[in-house]
This record gives sequence, C-alpha cells and structure tokens, in this order.
Amino acid sequence: MAAEKEKKKRSGRGWKITLLLFFVIILGAGAGLFTLDGRHVQFRLVGSSEITVAYGKPYVDPGRSAVSTGRLFGPGTQELPIETQGSVNTDEIGTYILTYSTEYLYTTYTARRVVHVADLTPPTITVQTVDGYEPSWFTGYEDEGVLAWDDVDGDLTSFVQRVDLGDRIEYRVSDSAGNEGLAVRELSAIAPPEIKLNGGEEVTISARMDFEEPGFTVVDGTGRDLSEFVEVEGSVTPYKPGSYELVYSITNGEDTVSVTRTVIVEPVEIPETVQPDEKTIYLTFDDGPGPYTERLLDILAEYDVKATFFVTSLNPEYEDVIGRAYREGHTIAVHSASHNYYYIYASEQNYMDDFNETEEMIFRQTGEYSRLFRFPGGSSNTVSNFNPGIMTRLTGNMNAMGYQYYDWHVDSDDAGGTHTTAGVVYNVTTGCAERRTSIVLQHDVKDYSVEAVEQILSWGFRNGYTFRALDLTSPTAHHRIAN
Ligand code: ZN
Repeated sequence: MAAEKEKKKRSGRGWKITLLLFFVIILGAGAGLFTLDGRHVQFRLVGSSEITVAYGKPYVDPGRSAVSTGRLFGPGTQELPIETQGSVNTDEIGTYILTYSTEYLYTTYTARRVVHVADLTPPTITVQTVDGYEPSWFTGYEDEGVLAWDDVDGDLTSFVQRVDLGDRIEYRVSDSAGNEGLAVRELSAIAPPEIKLNGGEEVTISARMDFEEPGFTVVDGTGRDLSEFVEVEGSVTPYKPGSYELVYSITNGEDTVSVTRTVIVEPVEIPETVQPDEKTIYLTFDDGPGPYTERLLDILAEYDVKATFFVTSLNPEYEDVIGRAYREGHTIAVHSASHNYYYIYASEQNYMDDFNETEEMIFRQTGEYSRLFRFPGGSSNTVSNFNPGIMTRLTGNMNAMGYQYYDWHVDSDDAGGTHTTAGVVYNVTTGCAERRTSIVLQHDVKDYSVEAVEQILSWGFRNGYTFRALDLTSPTAHHRIAN
C-alpha cells in the first residue's frame, strides 16, 4: 500500500492550525510518547497502485478507502468519503491514472492508481471441419483449416503456424501483445492401423495337407476395414515340419505397418510298429472295389479272416462295398482315386489332391479317415521318373503328416504275368513260406486272384499262420525308393 499525502493550508484558520501543530510537536517531542499521526488520514488501496487490466472487459476498481486515524483531536477513527478523478477506458489500450481524494480537518488527501489497459487475452483458434470429409491413415489427411481471431488484432488466420505431430496437429498464433493462442486437432482417424492376427503371432499346427490362414483384422482410426489392402508375404508348406514366417503388411505409400506370424509345423507321430509273436500274413488287395470284391468278402467272412483294402475310385458303382468291408472288420486304406501315374506323380499337390479324394470316399463309406496308404506302383516305382525325386519327397511328406505307407513282401504277380488262380496261389504261398511275417499284394479287381484266396487261407492255416488286417502298429514293408 502506498498513499501520497499532501497538505494544503487553508487561509481562514491558518493561525489556529499553526498553534495546534506547535502544541502537538511540543507535546510529542517532550514526552516522546505521542506521534504525529493524530492528524493522519490513511488511504488504503486494495491491490497495487499500479495495475494492469484486460482490454475489453469492464473496469472494476479493486477497492480503496480512507480512514482518519487521529486520536487526540477530531472525531477519531472514521471512514472518509472518497472522490475519484479520472477514468479507465478498457476499450482502448493505454495507461490511465485514477486520483482518489478525501478531505479531513480542512486538508485534502490524495492517492493515485496507475491503470494499464492491455491485451491479456490470447487469440482464439477455431478448428474447422469439412462436412463429409473422412480422412484416414490410408488416404492421408488434408487440413480442413482453422480460423484465428484476436479481440485486439482481429483476424489472425493467415499468421497461424501449423505443426504436424503425426497423431495431432498443433496450431499456434500470437497477437501483437505476445499472447499465444493454441489449438490442437486430434487425428485419431489417421492413426496407423493395427493388424490383429487371429490365432496370435505364433501358431503351431500338426503337419497336414493344407494350411488354413487363421485370418486377421485391420481397422484404421475411423473403424474402416482395410483388410483388402493387406499383403501377406511368405508361405507355409504345411506338410513339411519346420518354422515358417508370414509377414502381413499394409502401406499407404509413405508408411508401412507390418506384423509377423510364426507358423510352426510339427510332425505327426506314427506309432511304433509291433512285431506279432505268431507267424502272420497280411493279405492286402489293391485297386478295388470292383465286381469281385463282394465275392472276396464272402470268402473272408466264411473263414473269419480280416484283410486290408487299398481302395480306388476306378469303379465308383462299387463304392458302397467299401462300407461293407469296413463294417465286417477289414482295414480300409488309401490307394488312389485316379490311379493315374502321370497325374499323381506330376506334383506333390496333385498327389495330395488325389489322396484327399480317396480319403473323402473312405469317409463317406466309413465315417473315418485312414492313415494307412499304398503308393500306386509302390514306393519303389520308376514310372514316376519323369518327376525326379518325387517319391523321396512324397514319402517324407506323408510320414511327416502321420500317414504310414505299406509296400509288400510278397507279390502275387496278379497284375503282372500271372493270370491264373493256380499261379497266384503258387506265388503267394511260396513267398510266404520263406517268412514269419508277410504283407501280400493282390488285386481284388482280378477274378482269378480273388478265387485264389480260399486256397491261400487253407495253406496258411495248415502251416500255422495267422491272417490279420493292417493297422498303424503293424510291421511295414518299405521298398528301396528308386526316385
Ligand atoms: Zn494299384
């Protein structure tokens, strides 16, 4: 608080005041107890004597008062009326002086306040939006503009500085008084999309024919689906155990977002083989079902013997005989749908397509898929030589997927040079006689071979053999792979 005091003598009663003053000074000096404030007026200004107020807002004086403090003379402490000279025009920048005055005991006391009217309000920046405009990370963002207004300087739009911070834009502008206005435009709509992988970033599958992409979702900040723009690099060979990487990426030409998925292909275990204790013959029949298969089933039923059928689709009108064979306890296994060497050995994919077709037929008839199979021509065939290495690759792939292949120990030659029942019986019995365990190759599409079965069974029983159907734990016969 600061108060300025002035005293002005009034001519009319000058001598009385002089005498009074003289008396007070004598008293005060003499006793040392009295102060001169017996004649004081205290001005009290609320706030500083120099203040700054905002342009454009009504001026409200912070407050002031004047109080007489004399005790020896006069009426003692009391509020005194104040007159104000001068005014503040807040609609005009500038400095104004207010003079407050009061009278007490014929003396005029004054105090001053200096008021600066200044621009204290920063410019306002209004972020504009354009109707119907839908920015996105993918299409980029074109600024929709701002308007900047200052209550003193007026339109400052053309002075706005724009700072692009990726996920937002900051707009700044200063007015002539140095007040800075700031506005922020959030750009969540153009935030980079996130690629979410269904099934996670690591997927483990068992080796199989096909890999089914688990899928992904890509949505930008506006919720727009960007899946169609995602490119997937890399591939999975689902029938070859190993670790594969798939990279999913999307680009807007400037930035790229990508996520990697690791696909681990694990081999499917094939059970250990178990050598049967007794002398065993596994009768197996290829290329059916056909016109003689029912006759064969009747014979097997009569002797209560189970055999194995490596089936084809060569005679589709007999397909349901597969169902009967299955229900009667025989093993149904895959041979080939087409049995066309030049098709199935042209590529791994062809082989698997043909294999799957056979599996579907088996499933239709039995309600199950089979894990046992026999390559057309056997695994040692050379008819596939037109595609070098195909048998090596196929045997590896099929085993990785948990399928077991069965060649044969004893060839009846019924698809070769032997065309009589006696010849088939001879070939099979002499072949089996040399072995404890035999997998025998016959074809149920050959009537003379089917007719040989009864004699083969009789011979086997007489010589202490057990006849069994193959299962995954049966001993395998694997020929030397020649291609
Ligand atoms: Zn065959």
